[in-house]
Amino acid sequence: MRYIDQDELALPEGWLAKAAAAADAVAAGADPNAHADVWRELKDALAALFPEKKCWYCESQVDRADNAVDHFRPKGRVSDAANAHTGYRWLAFDHRNYRYACTYCNSRRKDVVNGTAGGKADRFPLVDENSRLYAPGPLSQEKPALLDPCDLDDWELIGCQQENGKPCAASQDPAEQHRVAESISVYHLDYEPTCKQRHAAAIRLMADVDQAKLFFGKPGLQEHFTSVAKKIRRAIDRKAPFSGEMIFLLKGQRHDDHPWIQKLIEA
Ligand SMILES: [Zn+2]
Repeated sequence: MRYIDQDELALPEGWLAKAAAAADAVAAGADPNAHADVWRELKDALAALFPEKKCWYCESQVDRADNAVDHFRPKGRVSDAANAHTGYRWLAFDHRNYRYACTYCNSRRKDVVNGTAGGKADRFPLVDENSRLYAPGPLSQEKPALLDPCDLDDWELIGCQQENGKPCAASQDPAEQHRVAESISVYHLDYEPTCKQRHAAAIRLMADVDQAKLFFGKPGLQEHFTSVAKKIRRAIDRKAPFSGEMIFLLKGQRHDDHPWIQKLIEA
């Protein structure tokens, strides 16, 4: 996961007026899905906020799915709510509630072969259920349990295990670990084929780190070192698959003898 700056979103001409009209219709009782063209119109603009059309939750490339615009706060019912919740309908046309997501993170699926299940669908757990909004109100009142790529602090809380590519908490704090566990489950980040791809990226990264450590500071090997260091930098760039998890793994390799690692992370 990486941080996505929503303020960079470029809205098409006339979109805000269309969104306001749709929001009025929904406030008067219309079904938000009857105006799905409004959020679908933002699909490309949202995709453009993150390179390579990657999913904001898992950093996999998104295929040309129709439902790539996820409502972070669900527009329909909310299955986690303690009382019957008909959805955050008043946010259905608020572009700050949109996240660009792949089908695996967004839609409920069961992987029977590997024994995992997930997909966000109507899930939106909170850290404290008592703070749940059932009508328009200050969103700051609710602390989402799910990690939000549009929150400056959340992306760094999740990493992956070097040996199998499975997602894990980057933090030792129990409350943060709980949020990571909820996110892995709800976004289906432990989907086995995704773990395999993440693992392959981890293997490549760690092989390069081992090489760079061997080359670093050795007379006559400066050029070799530079070329491997550039490869590692590319693997943690926003364009690279699973770059957030690769940063997590690279952070684990920091050492006083190898100051170049911290420099690459900050570059
Ligand atoms: Zn995804």
